[in-house]
Amino acid sequence: MGSSLAIPALTKDLVRVLIDADSISRRVDELAHQINDAYANIEGRLILVGVLKGSFILTADLCRKLTIPHVVDFIALSSYSGDRTSGNVRLLMDTRENMEDKHVLIIEDILDSGYTLDYLIRNFKARKPASVKTLVLLDKPDRHTVPVEIDYQGFTIPDVWVVGYGLDYNERYRTLPYIAEMYPQE
Ligand code: 5GP
Ligand code: MG
Repeated sequence: MGSSLAIPALTKDLVRVLIDADSISRRVDELAHQINDAYANIEGRLILVGVLKGSFILTADLCRKLTIPHVVDFIALSSYSGDRTSGNVRLLMDTRENMEDKHVLIIEDILDSGYTLDYLIRNFKARKPASVKTLVLLDKPDRHTVPVEIDYQGFTIPDVWVVGYGLDYNERYRTLPYIAEMYPQE
């Protein structure tokens, strides 16, 4: 009793808080409103597909702010070794829902080179859904290599490595409540 919630302090490799928890929460609210409106009158089901692992917190927060019927699914991909893209996307775990005639909304933590989303959009379109749209919380425009269409976007950020709110560095910092810029030191 009486103790405040412990927010992890910045460590030596976290340079600064780029987006604080309140700002993230307000933006996710706004995005949820937009999605509630956009999908209010659709025929058929809305499937949210969170891209693991980075989008698990975003997906959980967003789906609880939706007032329209939806189902939640996940897919796991890997394209990275270390902190830079290889452009080589691997499917580690597929979705479970049948997408035929359904509206698919991909929930991605961050758009960097664009390889991951480009792969996912093409892969999902081949499954004959009614529509495929994308929501990206963070966008690094300076890093785009493949053009990708984003339907809902949270924040634009500079070309720095960020962690927190689902995003990691070698599995560390994923559960920070804010998004921080980091410089790997080891
Ligand atoms: P892309 O295929 O667009 O190059 O990369 C997208 C994926 O790269 C994201 O889903 C994320 O997993 C990873 N990624 C890109 N930039 C960052 C970053 O700054 N921090 C973290 N933690 N992951 C990133
Ligand atoms: Mg990701």
